[in-house]
Amino acid sequence: MLPLLRSAWANPSSGHAGGRAARAAIDASRDRLAAVLGCEPRELIFTSGGTESDNLALRGTVQRWGAERGRHIVISAIEHEAVLATAMVMAECGEATLSVVECDGSGVVDPEAVAAAVRDDTVLVSVMLANNEIGTVQDLATISAAVRRRNARTLVHTDAVQALGRMPVNVADLGVDLLSLSAHKFYGPKGSGLLYARWGTHLRPQAEGGGQERGRRSGTENVPGIVGLATAAHLVESDRTIEIDRLTRMRDQLETLVLAGAPNVRIAGLAANRLPNIATLLVDGASIDALLTALDLAGVEVSGGSACSSGAVRESHVIVAIGENPRTTAMLRCSLGRMTTANEVTQAAARIVTAIKFP
Ligand code: PLP
Repeated sequence: MLPLLRSAWANPSSGHAGGRAARAAIDASRDRLAAVLGCEPRELIFTSGGTESDNLALRGTVQRWGAERGRHIVISAIEHEAVLATAMVMAECGEATLSVVECDGSGVVDPEAVAAAVRDDTVLVSVMLANNEIGTVQDLATISAAVRRRNARTLVHTDAVQALGRMPVNVADLGVDLLSLSAHKFYGPKGSGLLYARWGTHLRPQAEGGGQERGRRSGTENVPGIVGLATAAHLVESDRTIEIDRLTRMRDQLETLVLAGAPNVRIAGLAANRLPNIATLLVDGASIDALLTALDLAGVEVSGGSACSSGAVRESHVIVAIGENPRTTAMLRCSLGRMTTANEVTQAAARIVTAIKFP
């Protein structure tokens, strides 16, 4: 990214040598990302991140196909706000009708329940690949197949923002038409993401203008951001298997140590297929604010469900969806990553146990 920020900053739409170099950097990044996701380069639309990609998928689909196919959309109850709030606002404004499919106590969405919610006028189903609060993974291949059996014209979108580098993400294997990614979830720059749109899945653009991204997302491209997105995706994919193994061992170690030290803790989604980097602790009888403050003072950076933009902890819709009572149970999300060491995990577990036992 640095050369592109420092000197090679020409506009990729310019025909001169500098512009052509910037365009070449975008093209190379698109090729790299297509190889990672198993799609064609032309099927990728660069965006400003997960939120924009989710909005483009939902709004773009309903606006393009609504009149022909219907305006009903189906989402799961544990979607990120980028999908949940978008769908709700669309419903409130009369642009769409909405069905929300619940999950079970482990945070798993039943593919048959999704298919059962699909109607003749269902234009889009959006179910996230991996949850950001409890890490549960949904069986998108089965969901896509079940949806198509019910209505062959319904498009399937998945928010895969949490998944890349932590599980295989191949658009053909998942059977989806649309898929969102965000660079900063896999160590790329913030403010850069993409939407995969299967070729032929036309969307109504949400930004009109210069016609960049084949008219699907106008605006001068964020060239360093795109290069950072592609490089980060390539890096996390190249050592995915080793990293999944390392993260799983550390996450299991964290959970084992905390469970051994604090009897009032349970693990969210324990029975489900989960991402290897998220351990979400359900602490009975604890206050999330007190826990977060104690842990922050102890130098442990964890989060309570979903943090809103002000940094305050907001009651999580996911904890409610898995059948817990947020007034009596605190949800503490511990995330591990490439920089996390086994020693840090041991120390964090001890400090978490202390914070829980001596509030
Ligand atoms: N979707 C999921 C599952 C996320 O975890 C996030 C970010 O937290 C987003 C969407 C939004 O992505 P961005 O911050 O790039 O807009």
